[in-house]
Amino acid sequence: MSIIVQKYGGSSVGSTERIRAVAKRVIETKMKYPNVVVVVSAMGDTTDDLVKMTKEVSDNPSAREYDALISTGENISAALLAMAIQAQGIGAISLSGAQAGIHTENLYSKAKITKVDPSRIMQELDEGKVVIVTGFQGINDVSDITTIGRGGSDTSAVVLAAALGSPVCEIYTDVDGVYTTDPRVVPDARRLAEISYDEMLELASLGAKVLHPRSVECAKENNIALHVRSSFVSHEGTYVKEDSLMEMNKPVTGATLSDEEVMISVLKVQDNPGIAKYSQIEEDPA
Ligand code: ADP
Ligand code: ASP
Ligand code: MG
Repeated sequence: MSIIVQKYGGSSVGSTERIRAVAKRVIETKMKYPNVVVVVSAMGDTTDDLVKMTKEVSDNPSAREYDALISTGENISAALLAMAIQAQGIGAISLSGAQAGIHTENLYSKAKITKVDPSRIMQELDEGKVVIVTGFQGINDVSDITTIGRGGSDTSAVVLAAALGSPVCEIYTDVDGVYTTDPRVVPDARRLAEISYDEMLELASLGAKVLHPRSVECAKENNIALHVRSSFVSHEGTYVKEDSLMEMNKPVTGATLSDEEVMISVLKVQDNPGIAKYSQIEEDPA
């Protein structure tokens, strides 16, 4: 029977009240589909707060200790969610990246996931439990905790969906789908019913943080559909999947915004080789 993989991002588990709401949704899913694996991010701004704390104690923290610290936010939300589910009389267990068999390369802060050994997850599912896995973290060859890059819990979820043979991975977030552009910046952006992997990859790589770019790559490689939806409402969101005919007719699907780049144009430079260095630059009246 197929395994459902759901991922809940930081704002979806931003308070204990939100964690109780997520527990309810997970239990509803388990009533319909017995095998549920949940990947969680850290609560709200926890990871940012941990990063700030590193700066308060060191200008140059070691990469190993940095990951040991910033990975901990996910442990909190996973254990709290397991407790909230258990409180409703349903079996649940939280697993760290290492316990869930998520292996990474030996790099810290942005390690790639190299393999997943899902045997412990399978064992817990066979015992009827909801399995909750910490996103964002794994373990390397020397048994140290590593992190896979900011926003990486999406990728943890998709990698697990691939290892568990799930055809769909649900990504629960604080917007109800993928929009033509960031709906928090452009209020009349349109929600897309579906978007192809390649278009989504482009949006994500150019800064649409609704999905971690590597999660889209992994979904494409393994032909896993992503369903991006809100944990605050019940309606469906956006499916990220292989091109459909409908999608192929559109000249433009979306746009992203980066507020970390500036463009400087040097105007009215004489068009002679070697002259740019010396030419007097007049101010552009425009
Ligand atoms: P989570 O904590 O659930 O992982 P993120 O904050 O990482 O959530 O991503 C969700 C955010 O992505 C939204 O709140 C939204 O502001 C932003 N975003 C940027 N571009 C888009 C887009 N094209 N469609 C939807 N959301 C977008
Ligand atoms: N908690 C991590 C971060 O803030 C991972 C994630 O949220 O996906 O980057
Ligand atoms: Mg995110």
